[in-house]
Amino acid sequence: MSPIHSLSLVARLGEEFGAEVTYDSPLAAHTTLRLGGPVSAIVSCPTTQALAGVVRRLDSEQIPILIVGGGSNLVVADDGVDAVAVRVATTDLKFDGSVMHAEAGVNWDAAVTASVAQGLGGIECLSGIPGSTGATPVQNVGAYGVEIASVLRRVELLDRASGTVHWAGPEELHLSYRHSILKNSDTAVVLSVELDLLPDGLSAPVRYGELARTLGASEGDRLPVADVREAVLALRAGKGMVLDSDDHDTWSAGSFFTNPIIPTEELPEVLRKAQDLLGADVTMPQFPAGPGRTKLSAGWLIERAGFSRGFPGEDAPVRLSTKHTLALTNRGSATTADLVELARRVQRGVEDAFGVRLHPEPVCVGVHI
Ligand SMILES: Cc1cc2nc3c(=O)[nH]c(=O)nc-3n(C[C@H](O)[C@H](O)[C@H](O)COP(=O)(O)OP(=O)(O)OC[C@H]3O[C@@H](n4cnc5c(N)ncnc54)[C@H](O)[C@@H]3O)c2cc1C
Repeated sequence: MSPIHSLSLVARLGEEFGAEVTYDSPLAAHTTLRLGGPVSAIVSCPTTQALAGVVRRLDSEQIPILIVGGGSNLVVADDGVDAVAVRVATTDLKFDGSVMHAEAGVNWDAAVTASVAQGLGGIECLSGIPGSTGATPVQNVGAYGVEIASVLRRVELLDRASGTVHWAGPEELHLSYRHSILKNSDTAVVLSVELDLLPDGLSAPVRYGELARTLGASEGDRLPVADVREAVLALRAGKGMVLDSDDHDTWSAGSFFTNPIIPTEELPEVLRKAQDLLGADVTMPQFPAGPGRTKLSAGWLIERAGFSRGFPGEDAPVRLSTKHTLALTNRGSATTADLVELARRVQRGVEDAFGVRLHPEPVCVGVHI
């Protein structure tokens, strides 16, 4: 289909489904990094029917689509993308006893706030994570020892190959550390999400040492949900991990690199390199990650490879956050090219120092890191 025809289809879809359409808009206005060039159109879908209908019709005409929620896990090329962005702008949130039912566009932290207000536990450790509820299963969001996998009851999926809608249980999504079959894939759109929460007003057992210490609790304790939420928000704010438009340390996509998981047999060689660089008594954080696999700390590797907070310095358009080495931040005048350059520099530095490759956590569109 020619660009003119696809734009007239988009205009018709906007009218038919009550979806707002803007043309040739930069995605920078829709990402938390405030980076990204234009798409041919952005269609904001206010209902689940509109979301499913618009995606089905664009797919049937083979028009490329980029699904956008809160744009908090997206790195988009400066030249933009030859696609129609479909924005998930649905808002319905309900509770049935301890089951939360949220349309995909519901702001995630608003969903956590509402669950805490109802005295429901299980997701308080995921407080302050930006973006939409529908994106939480995409990378199995996690923080402070909890992942969405631990409460996910089922998701309503639009299968893009067949155009059909079905409910899928967590096992179908193959949720793992910052991953699922939905990540970096065009196979399905999450239309809504159901979570099984805890009805007794208490949090999930606190499993994260730093959080337990902040709360004066022991690991495994269950505490009032509101107390845990408050502590998590305070810890996150101290690391620049709660969005604040006045604070450039939060103009990011959160942690830029996942914690690398390596075959355990490669661990002695990584340790040897660490000892050569940092001395024989170095203690490198390492965690079991399933049979024959070990997870390392990306933040530790980055810092020990010589990249400190705020790197490379005050005048740089993209810097490591001054509060957290894992976040790459736009200081206000950056381009995606600047971001990619710094990401590659950090990646190379860590690989040279430890022989470990870091992988980006955000979804990269039109760029390769
Ligand atoms: C300051 C900050 C802190 C963060 N902290 C954390 C954290 O602690 N833990 C963590 O896990 N993440 C964290 N993140 C990353 C991010 O917030 C999450 O991954 C979030 O779930 C992304 O949601 P979104 O709606 O913004 O997705 P987007 O960025 O809009 O999209 C991300 C990907 O998901 C796809 N997608 C979005 N919605 C749907 C849908 N309905 N159906 C199918 N695909 C969809 C998009 O196409 C894209 O590929 C942080 C980000 C920032 C900026």
